[in-house]
Amino acid sequence: MKLTMTKTISFKPLSTPATDEAARVMGICNSCRYCEGFCAVFPAMERRLVFTPSSIHFLANLCHNCGACYHSCQYAPPHEFALEVPKALGRVRQETYAQFATPPALGRLYQHQGLALVLASIAGFMIMMIAALIVNQGSLDKLFSAASTKDLFYEITPHNVLVGLFLPVFAWSVLAMARSGQKYWRNLSNMAVEQPHFSTEARQTFADVATLRYLDGGGEGCTSENDQPTKRRRIVHQLIFWGFMLCFAATSVATVYHYLLDWPAPYPMLSIPKLLGTLGGVMMVVGCAAVLIQRPKRHSALKVPEQQTMDIGFVVVLLLISASGLVSMVLRTTAAMPLLHLFHLATVLTFFFLMPYSKFTHGLYRGLALWWHNREQLNPSRLRLSDG
Ligand code: SF4
Ligand code: SF4
Repeated sequence: MKLTMTKTISFKPLSTPATDEAARVMGICNSCRYCEGFCAVFPAMERRLVFTPSSIHFLANLCHNCGACYHSCQYAPPHEFALEVPKALGRVRQETYAQFATPPALGRLYQHQGLALVLASIAGFMIMMIAALIVNQGSLDKLFSAASTKDLFYEITPHNVLVGLFLPVFAWSVLAMARSGQKYWRNLSNMAVEQPHFSTEARQTFADVATLRYLDGGGEGCTSENDQPTKRRRIVHQLIFWGFMLCFAATSVATVYHYLLDWPAPYPMLSIPKLLGTLGGVMMVVGCAAVLIQRPKRHSALKVPEQQTMDIGFVVVLLLISASGLVSMVLRTTAAMPLLHLFHLATVLTFFFLMPYSKFTHGLYRGLALWWHNREQLNPSRLRLSDG
């Protein structure tokens, strides 16, 4: 077997009140260990003797906020230890979204004004597309004329307008996400592990992410408003995750049709892009609506108030994307279609533009943290127990 030392890079995040509190909490949990079967956080915690900011960032992003450890904890308030593991790790997670964002200032802005930023971006992209239409076509006739009440996909938004808007936004998004992921990985790399089993780690991490493996409170489900676990939160997350993946698959198939088969949109109802997109859109609408309804009812110990606008902004943009896509498909032969179509495109552009700062990064950091967790599990005898 090839022996490879993971390179240790001197990227040492500073401690904050949130990482200090999470380190205090983990120190107590490490003596207790009652919750070790609930999720990946506790086995990863048990591999450590001290908790530096790097290891706290790692543990925080392994947590799914299922609530199981809070309701099982004999040291939760009113005990003098006042242990609130989900909230302590949630506060650190929130910090990682801004700390590793590229640029961090945009991450902080999204954290404080997430919903406002989403709505402002949608409005901004609508204005940009309308301006692009005027420049391209000399007027807005296509947007309001009777001629546009048919399936005139590229008449309303010419291909060059779409490419000119989407390409830079998408490229920006991918680059910013890649940079953020790199910074987060470098942070994890403070915790040296040897002998990476790349393909085994990759396979296990993919399976963990695809099945949302640890989003079940150890098997019984997540708690929400009280200490009764249910599978509802897991189902809702699966709906959003797989709904999003189906919509992504629909767009990918449409791209192949357009560029390789010379078959431009719009596509008939029984085509693959429409079927995948419709099913994915319905799943996302149901999932996002359920999150928005359930969220206020969650136990206060499971909520990080400072994160509210960020969370809601992300779910709202997903809901608007899926709902506007479905509505514009249903109303595609009416006079409302052109404006609906523009609105849908503006929501998609907003999603990509804000993706590096939104809850989407939660998926990126969690995936990387899970990868690291699998790496440590595959190399248990070679761990350094006190990083950095
Ligand atoms: S959350 Fe409470 S019960 Fe669970 S391991 Fe920590 S101290 Fe023990
Ligand atoms: S809230 Fe759930 S996922 Fe988070 S540490 Fe507790 S048991 Fe693990």
